[in-house]
Amino acid sequence: MHEYSIVQSLLESCEQHARENEAKEVTKVVVKIGVLSGVEPDLLQTAFDTFKEHTVCNNAIFEMNIQKITINCQECGKISILEKNEFQCPHCKSVNLDVTDGEDMYLMSLEMD
Ligand SMILES: [Zn+2]
Repeated sequence: MHEYSIVQSLLESCEQHARENEAKEVTKVVVKIGVLSGVEPDLLQTAFDTFKEHTVCNNAIFEMNIQKITINCQECGKISILEKNEFQCPHCKSVNLDVTDGEDMYLMSLEMD
């Protein structure tokens, strides 16, 4: 499953951050999930709970922030957050857009002890 490999690399980077900071454990993991990233939050949570055992994240709280699609309109230059997966500028109705956020999933922050 897609989410399993994501969590495995996420846990690896947590281990690495903990080592670099000489932390005993990670208490909180915050990730950002773009709505276009294809990541299912429920599956990601399950995968995290499954794989965190015996890692520095064993007792960590897993927090997911859902990132909506952010676009930069090429016609009017305005930056907007799209409420729906509808690729149109809310200001000028242009479809000539650059997606600037909401496509990726990444680690936002870690709290460690
Ligand atoms: Zn526009």
